[in-house]
Amino acid sequence: MELLKHLIAGEQVGSHDGATLDNIEPATGAVVSQIAAGGAREVAQAVEAAERAFDGWRTTSSDERARLLERLADLIEQNLERLARAESIDTGKPISLARRVDIPRSAANFRSFAAFARTTASAAHAMPGQALGYTLRKPRGVAGCISPWNLPLYLFTWKIAPALATGNTVVAKPSEMSPTTATMLGELSIEAGFPPGVLNIVHGLGPAAGQAIVEHPGVPTISFTGGTATGSRIASTCAPMFKRIGLELGGKNPFIVFGDADIDRAIDTAVRAGFTNQGQICLCGSRLLVERSIARAFVERFVDRVAQLKVGDPLDDATQHGSLISEQHLGKVEAAVNEARALGGRVLVGGSRITDLPPRCAGGAFFAPTVIDGLDPACSVEQSEIFGPVVTVQAFADEAEAVSLANGTPYGLACSLFTGDLGRAHRLAEALDFGILWVNCWMLRDLRTPFGGMKQSGLGREGGEEAMRFFTEPTSVCIQYDG
Ligand code: NAD
Repeated sequence: MELLKHLIAGEQVGSHDGATLDNIEPATGAVVSQIAAGGAREVAQAVEAAERAFDGWRTTSSDERARLLERLADLIEQNLERLARAESIDTGKPISLARRVDIPRSAANFRSFAAFARTTASAAHAMPGQALGYTLRKPRGVAGCISPWNLPLYLFTWKIAPALATGNTVVAKPSEMSPTTATMLGELSIEAGFPPGVLNIVHGLGPAAGQAIVEHPGVPTISFTGGTATGSRIASTCAPMFKRIGLELGGKNPFIVFGDADIDRAIDTAVRAGFTNQGQICLCGSRLLVERSIARAFVERFVDRVAQLKVGDPLDDATQHGSLISEQHLGKVEAAVNEARALGGRVLVGGSRITDLPPRCAGGAFFAPTVIDGLDPACSVEQSEIFGPVVTVQAFADEAEAVSLANGTPYGLACSLFTGDLGRAHRLAEALDFGILWVNCWMLRDLRTPFGGMKQSGLGREGGEEAMRFFTEPTSVCIQYDG
């Protein structure tokens, strides 16, 4: 069986003690490969390699760095089908989604930051007749990049690309649930011609390999995407070491529909927002808030559409709804739905695991797209992230109630707002406490814009200039030439 190895100093290597983990295909329950299980020792080797490579990489021209990032983007595109298949097998996501979104976006991440590397300029501040100040932005050293399983290559590269573009070297850890495309990226980085040690990839469990990256004194920058509890732990480790951290965490995102919206479009988008990737995207609209005057008719049509989602083998091109990431995660989703029932919620569609599947998927972790109404907005199910195919519904009377419901959780990642009233859209943009507000759309992204959440959804922003700043340290230089 294939062993997915670490990439350290340009070499693919196993763990020093030969330790491995099973890589399970969640749509079948089968073990499809072995993963080298790294820990403190592998992380230390990777950091050492990254430190050795730093001087050469930081002094490489930004043009050459950009050329290598673009070469890697080309190779991702050339290997799209292979990468999409691997992503689908590791995670249970429909292969059509991996082909359309995950892999193209991974290539776009490298292209976008290659462009930034070429075009970013320093600010200069003239003190006429006296001095000239300018801001020198320097890479911070070795960047630790830790990412989750839901959009594996997409989020992994979203961190690695700006770190490398700005001249940092990288020690990255993918999720132990989705290691394959990270390993393939390592291979492609060798083919692209990156110098050894510039990009290092260590596999392993979070508390072992992840924690070792976070604790390592040679890694001053930590970019993390994952759960809020893990983020909180990382923050407490990093604070006394004065590390710079970026945290992209969980969400409980509202999807607000007013009666004056384009209703057909709102329904199409609400179905996508609720159930894309089986609801396992931090940006999924998991709380549907509908103006009371249209709520009954809207929810009826919404539920009807949800019931039509085509569940099946993720490797089947026609499948719209695949498997959850694991049997264990399915157990958590099922427990949340049972809790909703116990709290008086009404399951309008779904509500249980799916067993009517092709024979290959008999052992898979499939859960039906589920819609629930009748819950108290303050209850645990309405307040906690489920991260599965579960949407709850609430009705509201007016703008004030919509805002209060939308803002009424500990999270503040993303919000969708459907309305035909431009004034209302602007008013609510001011009132809604979210890092991202989509008006009449969902998950439409320009990679130059800031990305991230408020409250328990995270700290800092990724994307565009924000990422270029995050991975660099400014030195303000002042040169006096007279007086
Ligand atoms: P997770 O926090 O369990 O794991 C994320 C990564 O952190 C994995 O690589 C894991 O191995 C590692 N990790 C775990 N413990 C660690 C530790 N102590 N130190 C260092 N690293 C550690 O999250 P997950 O289950 O993989 O992903 C799901 C969560 O991610 C959801 O809450 C989701 O909302 C969130 N998410 C957020 C965004 C965003 O951009 N805000 C995007 C995607 C996912």
